[in-house]
Amino acid sequence: MTDLAVKTLRGGYPNAEEIVKGIDIEVAAGDLTVIIGPNGAGKSTFLKLVAGLLKPTDGEVRLQGEPLPLGNAQLACGMGMSFVPQERNVFSSLTVRENLEMGGYLLRRGMKDRIDEQVWRFPLLKSKLREKAGNLSGGQRQVLAMGIALMTNPSVLLLDEPTAGLSPNAADEIFELVRNLAKSGLAVLMVEQNALLALEYGTKGLALVAGRKVREAAAAAMLADDEVRHLFLGRRDANQIQKGEYHAQA
Ligand code: ADP
Repeated sequence: MTDLAVKTLRGGYPNAEEIVKGIDIEVAAGDLTVIIGPNGAGKSTFLKLVAGLLKPTDGEVRLQGEPLPLGNAQLACGMGMSFVPQERNVFSSLTVRENLEMGGYLLRRGMKDRIDEQVWRFPLLKSKLREKAGNLSGGQRQVLAMGIALMTNPSVLLLDEPTAGLSPNAADEIFELVRNLAKSGLAVLMVEQNALLALEYGTKGLALVAGRKVREAAAAAMLADDEVRHLFLGRRDANQIQKGEYHAQA
């Protein structure tokens, strides 16, 4: 059974409901699926619809076969899905430990064990537990944000541009950690602007244009595809692609 199965998901914002126009995707344990596409394609919106932070107008999201009530992020979290937003994903004025505790606020017991697990998973957090999150580097903050998301022991992890604003070295380190999370048995769905590098770490790729899936393939196949490389792996904006440069079918 697939850990995350999304069917014909549609939706957007109260004043712009039709951003995502019917996307299907399945992510299994061990997969690191990378969503690529031009700015404005609807990648982040799609992730928020899956996470329940926005309410879809149509479609279905299943976790381990169980349908999720749409648009209910807290319930989705309780059922095994965690989302790491691109921005404001840590509490700057709280310590690293307090941030991890916030991530585990739904836990009834086992807080200490869960914190120990994150420290074991991300050793750099160990010496920083009493440090204010606001004093961490950008890369360290992203690691903490993942630790917070993992406090509830999810089976599905959604990441929105975890390397935004990071140096190439820091981005490599984050991708390495994300790949290890997938290898450890999580189903990971990640939106990335840094598409070329992300696909090198990913197992699958999915390209979105104007709210629709236009290509889905193994990451290696995406990287080897001349058209995908030309259109998605350089810097292009949505207008160029929507004006007809892209014709391939999914
Ligand atoms: P991507 O992640 O692919 O860059 P987004 O999902 O952020 O794309 O945005 C898709 C579209 O949704 C864009 O046209 C953007 O202007 C619009 N959008 C993003 N956020 C909002 C919002 N809060 N309200 C209305 N429209 C939005």
